Parts: sequence; structure tokens; C-alpha cells
Amino acid sequence: MQRPLGTGIDIKGLTKTFAQRSGQMTALDSVDLQTSEGSFLSLIGPSGCGKSTVLRILAGLEEPTSGHALVTGRSPREVRGDHELGIAFQDSALLPWRSVLTNIRLPLEVAGMKADPTALQELIDLVGLEGFEKAKPAQLSGGMRQRVAIARALATSPSVLLLDEPFGALDDMTRQRLNLELLRIWTEKPATTMMVTHGISEAVFLSDVVAVMGPRPGRVIEMVPINLPRPRTPEIMRTPEFHALTDHLSGLVFDAGPSGRSFVENLSA
Ligand code: ADP
Ligand code: MG
Repeated sequence: MQRPLGTGIDIKGLTKTFAQRSGQMTALDSVDLQTSEGSFLSLIGPSGCGKSTVLRILAGLEEPTSGHALVTGRSPREVRGDHELGIAFQDSALLPWRSVLTNIRLPLEVAGMKADPTALQELIDLVGLEGFEKAKPAQLSGGMRQRVAIARALATSPSVLLLDEPFGALDDMTRQRLNLELLRIWTEKPATTMMVTHGISEAVFLSDVVAVMGPRPGRVIEMVPINLPRPRTPEIMRTPEFHALTDHLSGLVFDAGPSGRSFVENLSA
């Protein structure tokens, strides 16, 4: 059952300026973005268009200059205070001296929540790291480190999941496998999710809706609903419906271009 728009992510008139050496820089200009609770949103767009800034504001790591950003009806600060925020970045950012298990347990310790060993083991199994509980990050492959980062993001059973290019640094095969796992994990417990990604087909494969951003200043140029049936399996990537969606999104991202002008305009500029 689809909940009403705005019950998940609810961003209105969100503007963010940064002071830079050359003066004030408008990173986000009146961004509007709404999703329903428990839905999976992907955010795509050219580099520098403000995707991470949106995510960091939703995570409470950055304050809006104006406008508002709520998640599940709460401010980012409240969601964090309720320990319901899970977050993972491109760089797994694990603590090198901690093991797989104690890295994953960290958010529970920070939140002062009791770590249930059975639940932790289930989480480790869920991301396919059984047998590696005691390993240190340096002993793991890049893909395994990202699995740890995802498991850590899920440790407090968050109702809000924010992922900033979580598999961006990985090779295609690993990335596809981890996308399948992310889909499986999210299907078991659909958190209100926003994932920033450069991968158009992974965005279509995973999402209920894809928001396309354009640069200078950053804003949402189109919300594309992904009305592909669930549960989704890799076969769906070979359907005409899937290709139509990825073609449409590629066109939007391509047109947005690195400077916000169309490709043709860039050639003649
Ligand atoms: P994206 O994630 O889409 O690549 P970002 O959200 O990281 O884009 O950045 C958007 C713009 O805001 C960029 O031009 C970047 O240089 C600028 N920016 C982001 N964070 C800061 C900051 N803390 N101080 C100054 N400028 C910033
Ligand atoms: Mg970014």
C-alpha cells in the first residue's frame, strides 16, 4: 500500500548557499522532493549538482539556508535522536582497528542501545559476511568493506536509510551483486530510502522513483516514477519497459550536462 506523498521524504523550497572564496555559491535552489513512507528514491544528476548536499541535509549533517527538509514527518535532528537513521557513503569509512563485528555494532554503542548478538549475527549473514566477524577492514576486499558499511547502516534497524554512492568505487560485477543484496535487504524491511548514484540502471532497478537533478544551481528537473512490478529480479533489466526508463533518464542527465546547458549548447558555447 502506497502511503501519501510527503510521508517519507518531504523537502520544500530547499535552498543552500555556501561561502566560497569567490563569494556566495548557491548549491541548491528551491529543491522540492517528496516521497511516500517506506519508498526507495534514487537521486541522479551530473557531478556537483548538489546530490550529496541534499543527502547531508536530510542526515542532519548540514543546515538548510532556507526551506525545509523532513523525513517521516520529523526533522533530521529528531530522526537521529530517535536512532532511526542509517547512513553509508562511497568510502566505507570503517574504523581500521575494529573488527567486522565491532564496526557493525558501533552505531548501537553510540546510541546506547543493547546489542542483541543473535540480531547482529543475522545482519552479518544478511550481507554475506559470515565467517569474517573477527576480520579487520584491511583484510577485506572493497566489496566486503561496503557490505560492512551497509550492515552498519542497518544495525539500529533504521526507518530512514541514506546512501551516498555506496557502491560507486566498485567494479561492475561486484556492484551488481551488492545491488541485488541491497534490494533483498530493503525488501525485508522497506525503510524510507534515498540513494545517490551515478548508475542509471541500478537506480531504475532498485527504486520506486528516480529524481533527476540539474546543476547551477542545483534543482530537481524531473521525478520519474518507476512502475516496474516487485519483487524485482535481474530479468527485469532485459524488458522493453526497463530500457524505456533508462533511455529516458539518460536523456535527462545528458541534457542537464556538466554546466546545466544541453550537450549541443555546450558544443557551441
Ligand atoms: P554532488 O554530490 O551532486 O556531486 P555536492 O552536493 O557535493 O554535489 O556539491 C554541490 C556543490 O556545492 C559543489 O559545487 C560543491 O563544490 C559545493 N559544496 C558542497 N559542500 C560544500 C562546502 N562544505 N563548502 C563549500 N562548497 C560546498
Ligand atoms: Mg556527491
